[in-house]
Amino acid sequence: MPELPELEVARKTLSPCVAGKIVAGVLVERVRSIRTPREDAHAFANGIAGRRVEGIERRGKALVFRLSGGVAAVFHYKLGALAACRQEPVRKTGGVAWNFSDDSALEFTHMQLSEFHLAQEQELSKLPVLKSGADPLSRSLTAKKLAGLLPAKKQLKAALMDQNALGGIGNNYSDEILWNARLSPFRKVGDLTGAEFEELARQIKSTLRESIRAGGEEEFRDACGRHGRYQEKVRRRAGRPCRRDGHKIEMVKNGRKTFWCPHCQV
Ligand SMILES: [Zn+2]
Repeated sequence: MPELPELEVARKTLSPCVAGKIVAGVLVERVRSIRTPREDAHAFANGIAGRRVEGIERRGKALVFRLSGGVAAVFHYKLGALAACRQEPVRKTGGVAWNFSDDSALEFTHMQLSEFHLAQEQELSKLPVLKSGADPLSRSLTAKKLAGLLPAKKQLKAALMDQNALGGIGNNYSDEILWNARLSPFRKVGDLTGAEFEELARQIKSTLRESIRAGGEEEFRDACGRHGRYQEKVRRRAGRPCRRDGHKIEMVKNGRKTFWCPHCQV
């Protein structure tokens, strides 16, 4: 499932392909992805056609396409999707395509439960899909603020994934962040020292930024179809040696998989 780094890579690579362009027409072949207005492909297409794309923003795990006339189209990847720029109009798609007046296009395919919502800008805050806590990359996210945001009674991994506290960190990057911070995923937030919060705040930002620079995780593809090159430190490495100390990486499955090194993550 794409998390903050993949969304940020999508935003950065899609923006130059779509910003300033006029949508000439919208093709919807995956009607069930249109959630607002619910499964109404006609209203969705008519609501977008003729508008200029002003820009793209990231909010938590969603992309917000700002359109002229105070309208926004929100795209949530959910389990994953490919949002790609095309150099010619899309006539057939398994998903959703926006054809621009300059004969280029933006095509959404491989939409695993992905959702589109069309809304007036002033109604965006009412969309549940955009409900999100603080942005982990925000400069204002200091160790002190982090300590106040993360629920004290939760275990660290669950707390990092709590979208009401921080937006955009999920199952993958929570493990990576905690390995980098040398903290056990099972520690209680309330038991962390000030120095540990400092290190956690630092590693949240540096882990996410490292992945953004690498184009996201390997399964993800950006607007040009390029795969990410982020090298996982601990994810999917159960039974293999820890990259830091050579001890065996452990994995527990409790609904979702958690990977950690019991030796250096305390
Ligand atoms: Zn280790």
